[in-house]
Amino acid sequence: MNTTSIRIPAVDVPVIGEYDVVVVGGGPAGLFAAASAGRAGRSTLLIERYGFLGGAGTMGGLSTFCGLHARVYGDDMRVIRGLTDELLDRLEVLDGLNPPHLSVDNRIMAQAFDISAYKIAADELMGASGVDLLFHATAVGTVMDGNRIDAIIIESKSGRQAVRGRMFIDGSGDADLAVWAGAPVERSEHLLYPSLMFRINGVDPVAAGPAWKTIRRVMEEAEEAGTHRFPRKKPIVRPQRHPIEWRSNLTQLSNDDGSAVDGTDVRQLTHGELQGRQQVKHTFAFIRERTPGFEESYVVDIAPQIGIRETRRIVGSYSLTEEDILGCADFDDTIGVNGWPVEAHVAGDVEFRFADSASRGFNQMPYRMLVPQGVPNLLVAGRCASMSQRGQSSGRVTGPCFVMGQAAGTAADLALASDTDVASVDVGLLQQRLVAAGAYLGTELPSASMVVPTPA
Ligand SMILES: Cc1cc2nc3c(=O)[nH]c(=O)nc-3n(C[C@H](O)[C@H](O)[C@H](O)COP(=O)(O)OP(=O)(O)OC[C@H]3O[C@@H](n4cnc5c(N)ncnc54)[C@H](O)[C@@H]3O)c2cc1C
Repeated sequence: MNTTSIRIPAVDVPVIGEYDVVVVGGGPAGLFAAASAGRAGRSTLLIERYGFLGGAGTMGGLSTFCGLHARVYGDDMRVIRGLTDELLDRLEVLDGLNPPHLSVDNRIMAQAFDISAYKIAADELMGASGVDLLFHATAVGTVMDGNRIDAIIIESKSGRQAVRGRMFIDGSGDADLAVWAGAPVERSEHLLYPSLMFRINGVDPVAAGPAWKTIRRVMEEAEEAGTHRFPRKKPIVRPQRHPIEWRSNLTQLSNDDGSAVDGTDVRQLTHGELQGRQQVKHTFAFIRERTPGFEESYVVDIAPQIGIRETRRIVGSYSLTEEDILGCADFDDTIGVNGWPVEAHVAGDVEFRFADSASRGFNQMPYRMLVPQGVPNLLVAGRCASMSQRGQSSGRVTGPCFVMGQAAGTAADLALASDTDVASVDVGLLQQRLVAAGAYLGTELPSASMVVPTPA
């Protein structure tokens, strides 16, 4: 008897649906991909392994949109538009959006949201786009017809089932579909480190004041004095929409040998969850003890899972690089822009690198970064699109993932309309469609209406 592997007998798998476009993953990329395909009139299914949408924004507990803004010749501007405008409006209606705040030493804007409101707003965005949803379903494989994907195999409480599609969009964050379909992918030798996010409630906002400025200093002083050791430098602890609640981004998850926890390895994921909760316990105890206004506070939520920043990325027809980010690159096949700096979560620290402060402050993003090699009916959007590791350290945040998602869903529609493969989509037409849907492609300087006033 072979004890190292088990052969599973072949089974017939019921096909539970046939769609024009099938999207895997309900993070920012998959969400906008499904919405734009649905709005183009395509029958669209979004498959998500959790019971809610938002990806790392909800399951990873981020609660902040990064990359919606850029600092353009000194002005902070919201450069991610299109479906993003509608999502932010929906969050406003739900009273779930903070005004933008200055982040990373006041060098760039970010905008916090309420996680529960985001879940509801995302559901409503899907409903308004005519997208079918399948929650609690994990995609586990593809069935190929030559080099085209014919169907996706899913597993859920209903057992093993299949969904057929004409076009597929991989928004899994881990390039799952791309791997199963045989498209080339790469992974860094040293992955960016994950974190486990948590939120603190019961803060007295008046007594706390701008404690987000002091918590970091107090933690650094404790490290210098040798009394404490924290998982990483540059902790972020800031108030949410309702300032009795603060979010905390300060853990860093590693294996016993110091390497980053790998989000595609189930044993490492398990270790990371356990380690993350211990880090939450210890750092929260320190913050409560040392921060005025936090005396009665408590951990109201630890994210449903550890947040994974990087695993596999496709090797597409173009890979976005750090030079593109820092050099504010332009591309003929631009689908939108990105103004977030390079944010590399390295051992014990977070390294930021910005484009020159006198520069335009954003790069364009090329359609080619969504196009995998060798699979004509697959697009890949989000943190697993085609980028170098340092390019992804910028392009993985929510704003550029929204851009990629909206472009991927629109491109899937165009590929179906012209009966071509994804690499042959008419990019000029794609750009026209994106602009008509309100997107900003960065081909001219942003208008004055995109300037966001500096917060007091
Ligand atoms: C700890 C941490 C903090 C971060 N902080 C910020 C921040 O403050 N602001 C910011 O803008 N960005 C932040 N980021 C970056 C964040 O990763 C991206 O913003 C973004 O969420 C990536 O989007 P995505 O759609 O590519 O993938 P994800 O957000 O990872 O979404 C992938 C989705 O696919 C689903 N999925 C995966 N595989 C399958 C499968 N096989 N079958 C079915 N469903 C599947 C997942 O459940 C998930 O919903 C942070 C990341 C981490 C990890």
